[in-house]
Amino acid sequence: MAKIFCVANQKGGVGKTTTTVNLAAGLAKVGQRVLMVDLDPQGNATMGSGVDKRQLKLSLYDVLLESASIAEARVKSDKLIEGGCSYDILGANRELAGAEVELVDVERRERRLKEALAKVNDEYDFVLIDCPPSLSMLTLNGLCSAHGVIVPMQCEYFALEGLTDLVNTIKQVHANLNPDLQIIGLLRVMFDPRITLQAQVSDQLKAHFGDKVFDAVIPRNVRLAEAPSYGVPGVVFDPASKGAQSFVSFAQEMVDRIQKM
Ligand code: ATP
Ligand code: MG
Repeated sequence: MAKIFCVANQKGGVGKTTTTVNLAAGLAKVGQRVLMVDLDPQGNATMGSGVDKRQLKLSLYDVLLESASIAEARVKSDKLIEGGCSYDILGANRELAGAEVELVDVERRERRLKEALAKVNDEYDFVLIDCPPSLSMLTLNGLCSAHGVIVPMQCEYFALEGLTDLVNTIKQVHANLNPDLQIIGLLRVMFDPRITLQAQVSDQLKAHFGDKVFDAVIPRNVRLAEAPSYGVPGVVFDPASKGAQSFVSFAQEMVDRIQKM
């Protein structure tokens, strides 16, 4: 049975997609079977995995509207296979934005993804869901499906404030829709220890959230930022880079954590 995780933070540009694709590749590298679900109409996780979002025959949109199963809609990426870190991809593109409107009057609309995932659950060790930067119906589908939430965050002054909204949403989903849901952990990303403020916020995070803060820290690393333009995660693009190595450590930490869940 797969463990299902959302990578979520309603703040934009904090590193959700970078975390999702690199964790997926890192997990594949340490021998895990992974499905990556792109829940964002921007389709960045799809493109960043080497799949052209404009060429998708079927996507998450079709799965949410129940006109295709995940088994039919998922794809593989040649670039990931060549890189030796292959995972399955349930892609997304602009069409997905329409699902929000089309599902408005539909019953159990927030459970569509959960029900679809149930049918492929035993084929994977991990399902990773890249959420959009909003607390929308799409994100709700992710949160309803998941065992836990991974929250990437930059150690900046306003980071803790944004966290309160996300924590409240997760509490509500936990109480009303998905009793399994919990925050698995906070991942410090784009971290630069030379910046005093970042070190201070990092200490505050640990003081507030204790072992909910992952040991792995993702540094600010230009190779991670360059990788998407080559259609691969940094872990595949430059495995020797500090950014790639930190994501492989994070993948190993996740494998260790789910054994205790
Ligand atoms: P959105 O909210 O739009 O979905 P996001 O939270 O998914 O954004 P990303 O797209 O992962 O954020 O990252 C935002 C930008 O920061 C991208 O240009 C990405 O390449 C860059 N970036 C992410 N992580 C790092 C890192 N550790 N080092 C350097 N650049 C990074
Ligand atoms: Mg993103």
